[in-house]
Amino acid sequence: MIVDVHENDIAMKSELVAALYATPGTILIGTVTVTAVMIAAGLLTGNDLVFYAMAAAMVAVGCFRHISHHHYKSIHLTSASVGDIDRLEKLAMAGAWSTAALIAAFGAYAILRYTHEPVAVLAVAQTIGYLAGISGRNSSRPVITRVQVLAAATPFTLALLWTRDPAYLVIALSVALTAVLTFSSAQVIHQIFVARLRSIRELEHLAVNDTITSLYNRRGFMREIRAVAASGRPLTLISIDIDRFKGINDSLGHDVGDALLKAVSETLIADLAPGDIAARTGGDEFMVATTRSVDDATALAARLVMLLASQRFIGGRHITATASMGIAPAGCAPSIEEALKCVDIALYRAKLDGRNRFVVYTVAIRDEHEDSLALETELREGLRRGEFELHFQPIYNPRSGSAMLVEALLRWKHPYRGMVSPEIFIPLAERTGLITVLGSWALGEAMRTALSWPSSIGVSVNVSARQFDHGHDLVGTVEALIRMSGIEPARLTIEITESSLIDDPDHVVSRLVALRKLGVRIALDDFGTGYSSLSYLAHLPIDTIKIDQSFTQEIGTSRKADSLMNVITQLAHDLELRLIVEGVETQEQLEVIKKHAVHGIQGFVFARPMTAEELLPMIGTRVATGRTRASRSGWRKSDRFSQVA
Ligand code: C2E
Ligand code: CA
Ligand code: CA
Repeated sequence: MIVDVHENDIAMKSELVAALYATPGTILIGTVTVTAVMIAAGLLTGNDLVFYAMAAAMVAVGCFRHISHHHYKSIHLTSASVGDIDRLEKLAMAGAWSTAALIAAFGAYAILRYTHEPVAVLAVAQTIGYLAGISGRNSSRPVITRVQVLAAATPFTLALLWTRDPAYLVIALSVALTAVLTFSSAQVIHQIFVARLRSIRELEHLAVNDTITSLYNRRGFMREIRAVAASGRPLTLISIDIDRFKGINDSLGHDVGDALLKAVSETLIADLAPGDIAARTGGDEFMVATTRSVDDATALAARLVMLLASQRFIGGRHITATASMGIAPAGCAPSIEEALKCVDIALYRAKLDGRNRFVVYTVAIRDEHEDSLALETELREGLRRGEFELHFQPIYNPRSGSAMLVEALLRWKHPYRGMVSPEIFIPLAERTGLITVLGSWALGEAMRTALSWPSSIGVSVNVSARQFDHGHDLVGTVEALIRMSGIEPARLTIEITESSLIDDPDHVVSRLVALRKLGVRIALDDFGTGYSSLSYLAHLPIDTIKIDQSFTQEIGTSRKADSLMNVITQLAHDLELRLIVEGVETQEQLEVIKKHAVHGIQGFVFARPMTAEELLPMIGTRVATGRTRASRSGWRKSDRFSQVA
């Protein structure tokens, strides 16, 4: 599953053995010429049967080498076993050595028996020619060449010496020298050959492997899964994405980022089975392909989510990096390309659902995904066509009974989907980055509308975490909008949630400080739903906390909520923060809340969000009775999902 260039001996050997079989033509020519020379020798010597027998043996060896070559072609070297490769090598050795032995026998026999006859010249010419030709052919396996040289040269040289003929002694010397040369040149050629092969292997390795983790890269992964798919085996894909990796990389440095990638790959490798394919396919993206059952693959993903979420010690600090995963079960798509899209959709969904989890691809998920893609396009169109508007929900001062602040809430009047809930399009706008445009528009529109209200009433605008991104100048935008509208800055409240503070708290806090310098107020929205401790509140540059509606629902029904309410009011008092309770729906809740020292009450019990026109007559009136005055035409939260269905 993981390729290491130094553990690549089998692949290397298979290439070396392949070289033995690379030039089948030379074997054919060799067999034909040697056989012809032997037959010629038979004819020259008046039909010496020994030569004919040698010719027959040569034909047999030629056939054997031909059959070996056939066998070689029937084996796929890339998937050949060690046994296959060894066998092929032995076959090549046997062929080469028996040829050498026959040539040696021919040469020695001709010299000894027909020392001064023309056939001896044939023998000398053939043996020297053969020795010279060996060096190139089998240099990938020098052992073959060496034995060949020894087998061919030794008996022949001995035979030449045996004749004691001075001319033959000279030839013996030349044969011996040729043998020695061939011996050493075989080694040199072999070294060059192996070095080239090794660098080719290294390049190939780099092309398909990731340098940081030594897993396959995307190319290697594609090659491997295509091979499995071609074999018809069902393949389940798991895509793994480290959550907020960019933040870790940017804030802790690339060394820590790389070490984290390595640690993640080690966790992956430790949990893989033989045949599983693992890869790092992108910056912080990993892939696993497995032929295990979908249930096993799901169990693997569940285990990986758990393992990856545990803390690790990297670069001298503890780092927790969770991961999100998508699973494309085998058979979910007709092709690998389609399956990769499925796994992307599932991963996307896992991130959307809050990260640190896995999601198994289904047709329903795909449909929702496509729907949200369509919605995304429409969101851009809608912005261009001015389909957005603000609704307003007053927040009342429980002591005076009159409105003190009005929250601006975005609405999307979609041409055929009807009114789309902000809970659907805000996350969409955040993902696509359109939130900065939309959010700036909401800020400006809210300030403009507030100018038609009594100056004692402020306007509160929601701001998303992404509006604090480095690329967007929120403070500059707010400043410009205040100047353009001419509104008194203290009338503007900006509502943020704790989620804004997660990624880069220092940066966000500095922006909040700058906003307050402009005179703008800051409210912490949805208080009580976050995870942070109460103690951090003291350090935040905020003016107001808004208690979340989920908490409000508990008031009056749970004793714990009531006592927590005491703690929060005390805390707000100590920190000199305004306290607003939102989502107050019933008279009972209102009665309980009024007993506490809260500064503002917001909820259906007084008013639902309404249009700017509907709001105007309302903000002059007092609501001390607490009877519901919901707007008839206002968009209702309970309608939210039916409207987008
Ligand atoms: P939020 O900031 O918590 O806004 C309060 C939500 O509670 C509003 O939902 C409001 O209609 C609803 N609500 C008010 N009183 C009651 C009540 O008594 N009972 C119940 N059950 N609900 C009540 P809405 O208008 O659907 O907005 C949903 C969320 O969309 C907002 O939650 C806010 O997070 C986001 N949002 C709305 N407008 C904007 C905006 O301009 N910018 C950004 N970034 N987010 C916005
Ligand atoms: Ca809000
Ligand atoms: Ca809220």
